[in-house]
Amino acid sequence: MLVLVLNSGSSSVKYQVRHVSTGSAVGADGAVGADGAGGGAAGDGSSTSDGPEALIAEGIVERIGEGEVTDHVEALAIINAELDETMSGRQLDAVGHRVVHGGERFSEPVLISNEITRAIERLNPLAPLHNPANVLGIRAIEDTWPDLPQVAVFDTAFHRTLPERSWRYAIPNHFYRHYGIRRYGFHGTSVEYVTAQAATLLGTARQDFNAVVAHLGNGASVTAIEGGRSVDTSMGFTPLEGLVMGTRSGDLDPSILLFLQRDGWTADELDRMLNRESGLTALFGSNDMRAIVEAGDDRARLTLDIASYRLAKYIGGYHVAVSGAQAIVFTAGIGENSWEFRQAVAHRLAPLGVKLDDDANRAQADTARVISAPDSALAVLVVPTDEERAIAEATAAVVHAQGC
Ligand code: AMP
Repeated sequence: MLVLVLNSGSSSVKYQVRHVSTGSAVGADGAVGADGAGGGAAGDGSSTSDGPEALIAEGIVERIGEGEVTDHVEALAIINAELDETMSGRQLDAVGHRVVHGGERFSEPVLISNEITRAIERLNPLAPLHNPANVLGIRAIEDTWPDLPQVAVFDTAFHRTLPERSWRYAIPNHFYRHYGIRRYGFHGTSVEYVTAQAATLLGTARQDFNAVVAHLGNGASVTAIEGGRSVDTSMGFTPLEGLVMGTRSGDLDPSILLFLQRDGWTADELDRMLNRESGLTALFGSNDMRAIVEAGDDRARLTLDIASYRLAKYIGGYHVAVSGAQAIVFTAGIGENSWEFRQAVAHRLAPLGVKLDDDANRAQADTARVISAPDSALAVLVVPTDEERAIAEATAAVVHAQGC
């Protein structure tokens, strides 16, 4: 089965075609670029680490609304033309959409109908930059390939199992009832995929698996897994909460915003500061972990110290939240590739009995692996994430179940 995996942003459409059952490559790899749609109130690019064997075509259409590409239908026309070239006449079977916000309704991937599209649209206020773009992508597919089944896979869905003690903010209930202000969590597709891989690697049934999964890309979050399900996660109402990220601040005292608003800063300016100009970028001057590690100067050391300290605090807390984790799992760009950052975090977790195998931690590989020492109290794993594969598989499962 061939699934087109679509990640529609407001100014770009990222796509890949995946062969679900074999993972075999058909056609060429395309270009991979940054999604220009990031920032704002919600939405978060996840890491991709795709072997060419699973990748059939991949590319990016930039700056919708400028030049040749005036809207999402135009973007799809270009994608369609590229697919014609790279797929040697093979036909798509379905489309899987990465949809950022599923609100409280969607806990699983769903087959898209008009009613589902409208439901995604009703969630626009919770993800004003991303859900409208997803809807444009869905409608563009309807126009381009009206007979193709479409499935929505939600970034929030895996966190629908959060207990109320985790998702509720301690503010008056009116704000939840009227605005839907609560913790939703993001990166769910990646975390669910990585959790399943980690349980398999350790030979543990997923329903018995307790772990802390750190998805450390440009956006970063950490999730507490109990019995294979998400019970707490560091991103909240939006992807801004939690860890120090590439360009986002993570946790801070909300009074800072009130203080600055009273001094004349606008909501848009503060949004930009917190989502685009903070995090590693503010501390070091770049969001590239490689540059930080290479620099090795005082500023770089302080940056690593702040980011690893914040993550270690969360891991310690989540170890308690799941009544004892069996494993700590690192994934995404930094989690998969930066042995220095993993070492800094693990060092802080020594009081929990965490010990790395230094050689295993330093070794570069693109497979799931254990990097802890045999006498470590918790296993430490690196598991490459593959969000597109997870979306393609979820799409295929829904399409089969619905008999499309
Ligand atoms: P992602 O959003 O998952 O693509 O991750 C982006 C982050 O991963 C950036 O901070 C990159 O600097 C970091 N990253 C990617 N490759 C490496 C590497 N080889 N070593 C250290 N950090 C890396």
